[in-house]
Amino acid sequence: MERAWIIAVGTELMLGQTVDTNTAWLAERLAGLGVRAVRHLTVPDELAPLADVLRKAAAAADLVVLTGGLGPTEDDLTRFALARALDVELKTDAESLEQIRAFFARRGREMPEHNVIQAQIPEGGQAIRNAWGTAPGIRVAINGTPCYALPGVPHEMQAMFERHVRPVVQEAARGRVLRTRRLHCTGVSESQVGEALAPLMRRGRNPDVGTTAEIGVITVRINALADSPETADQRLDSAEQQVRERLGDSVFGRDDQTLASVVLERLIDRKATLSTAESCTGGMIGTLLTDVPGSSRAYLGGAVSYSNDLKQSLLGVPKEMLAREGAVSEAVARTMAEGARGRFKSDYALSVTGIAGPGGGSPAKPVGLVHVGLAGPEGPAVRTCRFGSDAPRQAIRMRAARAALNLLRLALVRRRGRAARAQCLRTAGTANLPIKVSNGRYV
Ligand code: ATP
Repeated sequence: MERAWIIAVGTELMLGQTVDTNTAWLAERLAGLGVRAVRHLTVPDELAPLADVLRKAAAAADLVVLTGGLGPTEDDLTRFALARALDVELKTDAESLEQIRAFFARRGREMPEHNVIQAQIPEGGQAIRNAWGTAPGIRVAINGTPCYALPGVPHEMQAMFERHVRPVVQEAARGRVLRTRRLHCTGVSESQVGEALAPLMRRGRNPDVGTTAEIGVITVRINALADSPETADQRLDSAEQQVRERLGDSVFGRDDQTLASVVLERLIDRKATLSTAESCTGGMIGTLLTDVPGSSRAYLGGAVSYSNDLKQSLLGVPKEMLAREGAVSEAVARTMAEGARGRFKSDYALSVTGIAGPGGGSPAKPVGLVHVGLAGPEGPAVRTCRFGSDAPRQAIRMRAARAALNLLRLALVRRRGRAARAQCLRTAGTANLPIKVSNGRYV
């Protein structure tokens, strides 16, 4: 059993009124069992298209899992579609009928007559008990392909899958597993990552390697298929090492780690503290940091110094500097960071000043221009970023917050192994990353 089709049934899904979380959940579970979902389909509550899709799915896949449309109402047509795809009649399953009656009895109610339909199963199929709701699931084989119809309600579907479908799939997979690892990178574009990883991303490889992009973060996903969890993990380890060799310090973390969590880990390791001085990000760096449990062990807090007045009074940015250089300038970013470090008595301080748009840009200082600053025991550093004048305000702000965290992360890494990083970047061919540091040092 290697290839599954997952079918989500419901007109409300087609209209975007309900977000289909069932398919994602099932795909992930099946992958963990070594069964790859090769098709995700969403079908409206219509008999003929659903029956047609079921036949196609059974012909193409080793396993079909479908959710929704098992309720008692007029638009719940899954059981009829299964019967039509099999070309059989529905019959009442006495045990299911009893369980539905008992479900209502436990709630002190009589079973409404139309719920009888939920006990109807296509001939030759089996009912799957639902301990959490009224709709039993249905198992049939269409041309020999096992096909499970589960309820649409996510917690009922999940419980039923775990109890009744997982053991069968696990048995059929005979120990085969698909394991996934995610490596997160920043400071590089998706195409740079694609270029550096091209040999690993070739189609048909095991492990397979792919990328997804989020604001300022590229995630490399590695999927390893193997006959045992140990072998899968070995394959992941080896692929991870190759990815890290090619991408060097652009890789900041793995799986659930975030830029903020790795920065905090390093600071805590070193018993160092951090404060922030934020202008255009309005506290986003603080939010990213305080999202991490235990962040108070390193993060002291900060100032949201949006106006020039607060930049002066809270952080000691000289009035003349603001007049001469403008609030969005390398000098102000550096001075904000130094001011926060002194004022809040932290070992490190991060600052951000920039133009998030959509207004306020000029040819010399366009929307998307952001300076992030760092002050620390090794001296100050500023990175100038141009995120593009067409970028949405929220994206510019999030990228700025992440760029600031990355400036500190790289400074902390640099202390450990500057030479190693230079070597890694040469190997990856990413030595021209858009990193500019005003004090002449390379971070
Ligand atoms: P019921 O007996 O509750 O009617 P059912 O099998 O008929 O169960 P549906 O009527 O299709 O299921 O859906 C019930 C509810 O489950 C929907 O209102 C929706 O909130 C949720 N649901 C259905 N399909 C999905 C899905 N693919 N992803 C997330 N939620 C879903």
